[in-house]
Amino acid sequence: MDLSSPTNNVSSVLPDIKRRGDGLIVALAGNPNVGKSTVFNALTGMRQHTGNWPGKTVDWAFGTYSYNGHENILVDTPGAYSLFPTSAEEEVTRDFITEGGSDVIVIVCDASCLERNLNLVLQILSFTSDAVVCVNLIDEAAKKGIHVDIAELERLLGIPAVATSARSGAGLSELMEKIERAAASKSRDKESAGPCTRCAGCRGNAACKYGAGAETCTDTGLSGRKTSTSVIFREAEDICSKVVRHDDTAYDGIQLKLDRLLTQRSTGIPVMLVLLAVVFYITMVGANLPSEFLWSFFSRLGNVLDALLYAAGYPEILHSLLLSGVYRTVTWVVSFMLPPMAIFFPLFTLLEDLGYLPRAAFNLDNVFLKCGACGKQSLTMCMGFGCNAAGVVGCRIIESPRERLVAVITNSFVPCNGRFPTLVALITVFFAGTGAFSSALSAVMLTGFILLGVFATFFVSKLLSSTVLKGFASSTAMEMPPFRRPQVGRVIVRSVFDRTLFVLGRAAVTAAPAGLIIWLMANLSVGGESLLSFCAGILDPFARVFGLDGIILTAFILSLPANEILIPVMIMAYTSSGTLIEYESLSELYELFIANGWTALTALNVMFFSIMHWPCATTLLTIKKETGSFKWTLVSFIVPAICGLTLCFITASVYRAVF
Ligand code: GDP
Repeated sequence: MDLSSPTNNVSSVLPDIKRRGDGLIVALAGNPNVGKSTVFNALTGMRQHTGNWPGKTVDWAFGTYSYNGHENILVDTPGAYSLFPTSAEEEVTRDFITEGGSDVIVIVCDASCLERNLNLVLQILSFTSDAVVCVNLIDEAAKKGIHVDIAELERLLGIPAVATSARSGAGLSELMEKIERAAASKSRDKESAGPCTRCAGCRGNAACKYGAGAETCTDTGLSGRKTSTSVIFREAEDICSKVVRHDDTAYDGIQLKLDRLLTQRSTGIPVMLVLLAVVFYITMVGANLPSEFLWSFFSRLGNVLDALLYAAGYPEILHSLLLSGVYRTVTWVVSFMLPPMAIFFPLFTLLEDLGYLPRAAFNLDNVFLKCGACGKQSLTMCMGFGCNAAGVVGCRIIESPRERLVAVITNSFVPCNGRFPTLVALITVFFAGTGAFSSALSAVMLTGFILLGVFATFFVSKLLSSTVLKGFASSTAMEMPPFRRPQVGRVIVRSVFDRTLFVLGRAAVTAAPAGLIIWLMANLSVGGESLLSFCAGILDPFARVFGLDGIILTAFILSLPANEILIPVMIMAYTSSGTLIEYESLSELYELFIANGWTALTALNVMFFSIMHWPCATTLLTIKKETGSFKWTLVSFIVPAICGLTLCFITASVYRAVF
């Protein structure tokens, strides 16, 4: 088997891995979506660490578990279909396996599609026999009437095999025992092994460095195993015909019907829109009250703190800075971000866990191909809903550099969670109001804004693909995982801790210093005018052409560190001009904006510009890191800004012509 250019960076991470325990190093390998992370989490519990593969910007996890008085180290390699890499993730897995990074490799397989999974197993076995096959998702396979004869599989492969249902923990103790057994037989083989006929000295390595000569290397214990791809496919098919038995059940029929409904041309997109609108409706209905409650609570608390600071004799300027600057900005972010995120993220994660997202991506696949972009861009676009920086990193799954750039540049057209609060607040106060019917209206409007972002993504992708990033779209195979019952507990933990609190924490950390700077700008004066109004004044004539005003444009510029602080910046800028000091509810926010000359057009254009302007600082830094190019970072900054300004110009011109 000829594998292109394995790197040598396994040796650079091994010392760090070995430091973590005194037992075996066990690598987890397998196709994506077979339950590797579930096995990893079940075995290691909370003893986990994540790291970054040197030079590859691929995240990976390692953790430990105790067995027989030793701390074994479990390394979770990125999901891979084959040892012939087509992505940076697969390269990492290939390197770790072929360079002998572990004592034992656990190859996790999906019992329902064993034949496909066996391709990787057989490829790995051409390098090393120090492996255990973990046939996971056995419960799901049983529901589909699929049964795997584990003893026969063991016999045919010549290595230990175990059936597991990692989600419930079934079979995991047997897995741990078989890992030890594989390691023990490895030590025995090592002692009895003769010299390698190819390298004459690789004894003790898990895999001979002459991968192509594995047939003659006695250390691998695999003499005679044929490794050409077609042979592997045939062998996988042959093994499956002997170990897999199918019974007839209604399960597959139901999956098929559901799949048709969700991905068929006539129903796929309508169902997707309805689902999106329902998610937003639940988010709006659920978030309105808690947001109002939190905002009014923090406002009252602010008054108490104000009184306390007075009583303590703090100078006026200090408590104005702390309360009107830092406190108001941070509490705005918490009040208007926490409730929608605490509802939206679990719902989104639930859809992800159910297996719906790849189907949504599949529905959009064709459109992306027509736009000259890669079908996988639909997945990276979905990731952008959570966070555009994460969406940009996700673009690594796109192999072609041209298509990856198209996906990176257009990712910020879908609003991240930092922009949702602005959209939600403005839709609520200017267009829909509160209450159940209004929430439905808000949800429909929000879905409309999201669709606008999606259309802009298509449009700009097409534009780039037919101009500066010319080329044909490459077709890709997209795997549709089976529908799975979501683990509600895990969904809540993952969405609340990994997403909601993480994003909120980041926003609050950015909001505090931003609040301070903005307060200083609002209160330091240049020639009798505050610095903020001075900047706003300069930008005002330009902004008005686009149906905005100077303060709005200044606020967009100042929220470059984090989109979530856009509205607090505007509030501070407007209130510093003395129009309205107290604002405890969204309706007062409406009055504040109206008093400062806003119309429905202003609100609409702020929302349009919020969907299409420059990406936030974190996303820009991520783009620079991922593309390694200042030029493409600049393009990613300019393209959405031009689109947003053009759209605002059109709406403003039409509005002026009509009214
Ligand atoms: P990975 O991509 O290989 O790391 O896969 P994950 O560990 O993320 O699992 C993919 C999905 O399969 C998740 O929804 C898991 O909850 C689910 N899953 C994993 N193992 C099992 C299992 O043994 N039985 C069932 N029913 N679901 C499982």
